Order: sequence, then structure tokens, then C-alpha cells
Amino acid sequence: MECRAGCGACCIAPSISSPIPGMPAGKPAGVRCIHLSPDFLCRLFGRPERPAVCSSFMADREVCGEDRDSAVRILGWLEQATA
Ligand code: SF4
Ligand code: SF4
Repeated sequence: MECRAGCGACCIAPSISSPIPGMPAGKPAGVRCIHLSPDFLCRLFGRPERPAVCSSFMADREVCGEDRDSAVRILGWLEQATA
């Protein structure tokens, strides 16, 4: 599936263990990445400093659900299941 523009669930719900510019320890689950804009777009998109883990994450109906709320629920559940 195509990533839903303005979703941003995967920039909030999961933890990211690799460094993010301005967040050297990555981010905990449920914390909004500082690079997620108010309209839920990545301010680092297309830039070399965007973490590799973000660039490699592919939208998939199984994890992205039908909308942001369902994606947050699924990603949060996966985070707990793999913690
Ligand atoms: S959760 Fe899926 S649809 Fe939403 S921003 Fe991330 S990749 Fe895109
Ligand atoms: S760097 Fe961009 S894609 Fe990665 S978590 Fe932050 S806002 Fe999302």
C-alpha cells in the first residue's frame, strides 16, 4: 500500500532505538518524533539525516490499518508483543 500522507502513526507509536537528529538515544514508544510536523509529515523526508530505519519502513495494510488510530493501536500492540 501507499503510505497515507499525514498519518504519522509510525513516528509516534513504536520505539526507535537508533539515533535521530536531536534525539540521540532514539525515542520511546508512544513519544512523538521531534521531526513530525503538526500536519503529521516527516520534516527530514528526502534528507540524508533521516534515519535509515525510517527510510526502510514500508507501509503495509497489516500494520498501518485503515487509519491513524488503527495504525497506532496495531503498532502499539506490536511494540508490546516484541518488547
Ligand atoms: S503508519 Fe503506515 S500509513 Fe501511517 S505514516 Fe507510517 S507507514 Fe505511513
Ligand atoms: S525522522 Fe521522520 S520518519 Fe523518522 S520517526 Fe521522525 S518524523 Fe518519522
